[in-house]
Amino acid sequence: LMGYVGFANLPNQVHRKSVRKGFQFTAMVVGESGLGKSTLINTLFNTTLYAPKEPLPPTAERPKTVAIESIDADIEENGVRLHLTVVDTPGFGDFVNNDDSWRPIVENIESRFDSYLEQENRVNRQKVVDNRVHACLYFIQPTGHSLKQIDIEFMRRLHTKVNLIPVIAKADTLTDEEIADFKNRILADIAHHHIHIFQAPTYDNEDEETIAEAEEIASKIPFAVVGSDKVVATPDGREVRGRSYPWGIIEVDNEEHCDFVKLRQMLVRTYMEELREYTNDVLYENWRTEKLLSMGV
Ligand code: GDP
Ligand code: MG
Repeated sequence: LMGYVGFANLPNQVHRKSVRKGFQFTAMVVGESGLGKSTLINTLFNTTLYAPKEPLPPTAERPKTVAIESIDADIEENGVRLHLTVVDTPGFGDFVNNDDSWRPIVENIESRFDSYLEQENRVNRQKVVDNRVHACLYFIQPTGHSLKQIDIEFMRRLHTKVNLIPVIAKADTLTDEEIADFKNRILADIAHHHIHIFQAPTYDNEDEETIAEAEEIASKIPFAVVGSDKVVATPDGREVRGRSYPWGIIEVDNEEHCDFVKLRQMLVRTYMEELREYTNDVLYENWRTEKLLSMGV
């Protein structure tokens, strides 16, 4: 191989290095309580990040504001380490007056940008920790109607600060036809309000298969998801993650039953790095520019 320089091996070098360092990813979940956020996170990462919760006794003091709670987990698969942070937002949409529910969430996302900027500005930038939110799963209540005011308000406030991934929660409570109609109305609302949701990027030099895959994923947005941390037996003798009903079993990992597999592809298997990159190159960069301009720098 005379004249072979060898930089074709760069991808492998990058790969080895990142495998050694591990990957860091922060996902946020937003939506009213009981929509299956914790269950879906457990299902997505196949861990018990969230233990089942005892319902609050009716006499218990209930919080009156949206809280921000974050949980970390180190998960490993085939020698690759992922440091996962899940930011939960209990209380969102649960009050009589939810007008400002989006505010503490925006503040949290911006304070993570702030902390990143502060680290970048340090003399010693050796150990920059990236705690920025790389994706936000927004859970839409499966009403079958259209988006609610609170959904629109949240997405309008957040779409320039975080990669929004809308999902229809508990899709097993709707029929296929109801889901199709609901999706169309949601997409019409999103377009009408000029809300930007995360789109998987495609590149000019990509092969047809990759482009087809991206289009297939995009066609499922907003993903109609079903979560379950239980394994159930199907009548034909398979063990599947799913939810069982008198009329049959809804399989989480079956693409005929729901969009869970496509959501996982978007968030984990195919586009996790793109989500991180878009957060850094576009969302953070825009925020940073605005911030510095407003400071007169
Ligand atoms: P969170 O408050 O949004 O975190 O919701 P949880 O994950 O705690 O789930 C609330 C309840 O809904 C639990 O009883 C779950 O078993 C149930 N649940 C979670 N995901 C689904 C789903 O996809 N479909 C249905 N039908 N129930 C679900
Ligand atoms: Mg929860």
